[in-house]
Amino acid sequence: MADPESKQDSTQEPFPWQLGVFDAHCHPTDTFASLDHIPHMKAGALTIMASRGQDQDLVRQFAVKYRIEDENLASLCKQEDVNLPKCIVPAFGWHPWFSHQIFDDTNSVVSDIRKPDAMQHYMSVLTPTPDDHDFISSLPEPKPLSELLAHLRENLEEFPYALVGEIGIDRSFRLPMHWAYDKQANRDASLTPGGREGRQLSTYRVQVGHQRKVLQTQLNLAAKLKRPVSVHGVAAHGIVQETLEETWKGYERRIPSKRQSRQSSKAAGVPENGMASQPDNGKLKHQTTGTKPYPPRICLHSYSGPVDTLKRYLVPSIPATIYFSFSCLVNLSSRTDKAVAVIKAVPDDRILVESDLHSAGDKMDQLLEEVIRSVCKIKGWTLTAGVNQLAANWKRFVFG
Ligand SMILES: [Zn+2]
Repeated sequence: MADPESKQDSTQEPFPWQLGVFDAHCHPTDTFASLDHIPHMKAGALTIMASRGQDQDLVRQFAVKYRIEDENLASLCKQEDVNLPKCIVPAFGWHPWFSHQIFDDTNSVVSDIRKPDAMQHYMSVLTPTPDDHDFISSLPEPKPLSELLAHLRENLEEFPYALVGEIGIDRSFRLPMHWAYDKQANRDASLTPGGREGRQLSTYRVQVGHQRKVLQTQLNLAAKLKRPVSVHGVAAHGIVQETLEETWKGYERRIPSKRQSRQSSKAAGVPENGMASQPDNGKLKHQTTGTKPYPPRICLHSYSGPVDTLKRYLVPSIPATIYFSFSCLVNLSSRTDKAVAVIKAVPDDRILVESDLHSAGDKMDQLLEEVIRSVCKIKGWTLTAGVNQLAANWKRFVFG
């Protein structure tokens, strides 16, 4: 895909929006009024993440408004040059920043489900254990995980192209402090409630074990419904990787050794220099063709891990297809050597771009253009080749 001969200063070229530009991860529903800008944007499609109680229905409403009607779209998308209509692809899920608002009732028998006392619940999932009663009483009534999963399933079943996201683990996030009485009255009403909105941060974090449980159950649901997922991982690359690996444990692809390949080729009468064996022609166990316990496609959004971790996601025995998405806001704001090394190391067909922005409109288009120009430069792609490659990658990630 690299085209070193045509390397040029891509910032001088007009940007080829007409080829189709797709945002793999964004949050315009955080700024409700900005959604009216979507039809006027240059980007072709936005993958809009839900994150908390307040935005699941907003994402749903906009998914209805920009619903992809063409039933053949998924197959059309497999042809690289098909232009998509302006649309949004919804993603439904519960972000780790809000995972403390959920209590785990998934192991309770139906007759035994009791809502825990809010105080007790928050004391058990937050760390350090909070002793500030005002802070705890400002937090919402916790919701049962089973209810969240049922709601998630309903939304996913309504939209056959919907993803699961944003889900994940964040070890560095701290909960915002409760609103001061005078400030809350003056908050910006155009913003969807529940976000930080400039509030000071408390010392409280959500226990990693709890975040992991909320992530695992959403991954399980994505696997059951065969949906791609968009995963957030901050200061948690190891634990995110372990949690994902658990989903395909026992389902790894068996990669035949060179000797085994030669033997099976001989047995099948294929000449030694013929086609290599397909890596997925054997599994360690569970040979059934039914539902797999892992999501088919996984996007590690605003991937900030090191090259070594990235390589561990690319071993051929992993049966899920892992994509890596990059944004100006997280990865390229200062164009660190680390981000450049990681982008260089991502295979051409596994890279996605995103704005990760909280409002739709010109700024979102601008961030997409910037990240694409940067990725093209780092990869040594022309803009045309890069935009086409990124469009094909997004279509494959979303539609399979
Ligand atoms: Zn996000």
